[in-house]
Amino acid sequence: MFNRVLIANRGEIACRVIRTCQRLGVETVAVYSDADADALHVRMADVAIRLGAAPVADSYLRGDLIVAAALKAGAQAIHPGYGFLSENPDFVDSVTAAGLVFIGPSADAIRKMGLKDAAKALMASAGVPVVPGYLGADQDAHVLATEAEKIGYPVLIKAVAGGGGKGMRLVEAAGNFAEALESAKAEARTAFGNADVLIEKYVQRPRHIEVQVFGDGTDAVHLFERDCSLQRRHQKVIEEAPAPGMTDAVRQAMGDAAVKAARAIGYAGAGTIEFIVDASAGLRVDGFYFMEMNTRLQVEHPVTEAITGVDLVEWQLRVASGETLPLRQDQLAITGHAIEARLYAEDVPAGFLPATGTLSHLAFPPDARIDSGVETGSEISPWYDPMIAKVTVHGANRVTAFAAMAAALRHTEVAGTVTNLGFLQRLMAEPEFIAGQMDTGLIGRQASLCAPAEADAARVAVAALTASGLDRHALWQGFALWQPVVQRVTLALGEESVEVTLTATDAGFDARVGNRTVILRRDAQGWQADGERMPKAMRHGAAVTVFGRDPLAFTLPDPLARGGQGMGGDAVLAPMPGLVAQVVVAVGQQVATGDRMVVLEAMKMEHVLRAPRDGTVEAVLVAQGDQVKAGVALVTLILPQD
Ligand code: ADP
Repeated sequence: MFNRVLIANRGEIACRVIRTCQRLGVETVAVYSDADADALHVRMADVAIRLGAAPVADSYLRGDLIVAAALKAGAQAIHPGYGFLSENPDFVDSVTAAGLVFIGPSADAIRKMGLKDAAKALMASAGVPVVPGYLGADQDAHVLATEAEKIGYPVLIKAVAGGGGKGMRLVEAAGNFAEALESAKAEARTAFGNADVLIEKYVQRPRHIEVQVFGDGTDAVHLFERDCSLQRRHQKVIEEAPAPGMTDAVRQAMGDAAVKAARAIGYAGAGTIEFIVDASAGLRVDGFYFMEMNTRLQVEHPVTEAITGVDLVEWQLRVASGETLPLRQDQLAITGHAIEARLYAEDVPAGFLPATGTLSHLAFPPDARIDSGVETGSEISPWYDPMIAKVTVHGANRVTAFAAMAAALRHTEVAGTVTNLGFLQRLMAEPEFIAGQMDTGLIGRQASLCAPAEADAARVAVAALTASGLDRHALWQGFALWQPVVQRVTLALGEESVEVTLTATDAGFDARVGNRTVILRRDAQGWQADGERMPKAMRHGAAVTVFGRDPLAFTLPDPLARGGQGMGGDAVLAPMPGLVAQVVVAVGQQVATGDRMVVLEAMKMEHVLRAPRDGTVEAVLVAQGDQVKAGVALVTLILPQD
């Protein structure tokens, strides 16, 4: 076994590899970009070495700097993780040339599987079933169109150098072929520097089922299948193992084909053979086709670990350090069922737009496996993949695993960025998925999965209460009040905004939301709305998040923006109820547009109220320490004479 390993990656996968190294007593070296100087993987490793600036081209893709860092730190081997340089054969060559071990397959094996067309041809000759299609070198548009016609529509155009769904286009009919080809080629050229494409028969109601393989250069075994059919825009969202509806015969056939593929290239390390499966009539021994091989550890490897009890990173380290395969095929078995969900900072209703933000709060339930590279306070930066965590659960069977995942997602709390958490929760309740009847088009068909979260009056009331800070005051707790505490709170959810009026009662609050009154009561476990237990809510600055089912992320609209509109030009009004913290101006003073006039403390924040126009202060109507209502004039102005 190695003494010291460098991990040429970041985020959750770097942390995950470090954890296994630590368990095996292997020292770890992290590398990082300037954006990651304080990242979790940097703090977890024994040694950390800076690569360069935030862009990946200056840091995580700088193979030369990574090799130099490994040599400097005295590492014997480099674990590439996934993405970045993990499938770059030139990087493997430079690692080996420096006298270091690359924890993964040989450069030759990666090259053989690197281009989809060559890999398909190789697999076909090794007797592995492949999707019917055109793999030719002739890339003339007319030739390609003729080939598409021969294959029969619908067809899929794929970039030969493709990955992550880039350079891929579905073409339903001949009339759309030319345009789709042009855009696929343009995308492929930008993304991969290689515009070549192949054409495949588009499999109807396709399922994506992949087989985990593991080789030691001579022999290979498989660790069963994963079903990754839940995809949005050809990217995996939720994966599970084993595949629902799998039979012993089909598993045997797919496993044999995968092992055959791995052996054909003398594969060493962890790899995945991806198959596209025609699920229009159930899983059949003649209904699966090789799509591509991923010559690295996959994002979704935890589900395989959960059902087999194997630590795949441990196997990678063992095999790379010269050991043979730790287990034979007949020693491997499936126990129970596992599901993984990928939690991302992304705006689902906006089309899965990547999001950024500082995680003001991040918490997970204790009984799920969490693979994450971030924690409370971490920033999801625009530089890298916006994944927050992978949540993996294991159950005795698919039904219990589903229940465990639904519960785990309900108890996952993220504040500080929009996430796909509500979307993942809805997916877990999707009837086709529950029935195991999903295919790769499911998410695309069910628009409601991606709709914005619904803000019901009860949760709006809880959000308003949390925003007001009154929930943490003792005021409402049976004190005899001089007068009722009334506070008005404005909350925004996306484009919509809602006003809530909170009135303290002797047992809690009445919240007026639109034309409804929600009765908020507190008990030992938290708040109830109209007798129903409410999820936890938190406020950080101008953001209020209600956790639990279909979480809601409200913002408190900038009171200045509203105040500015309502000021009418010659008075500065209180945009919300608050405490006058400071009066900056005096009667007779000349002010210019934007000058500070009054500082108001409201909703636990200080708000600076500024002059709406040039003028002279006519009257100051409040003093420091005054409590003011919304809409009250604080300072009036006389306009300058011209
Ligand atoms: P990439 O390498 O860009 O991720 P893949 O070749 O792995 O592309 O395909 C990604 C996804 O596209 C698959 O999981 C599947 O959902 C879909 N797909 C690929 N090939 C076909 C096909 N021939 N018919 C139908 N769907 C396909």
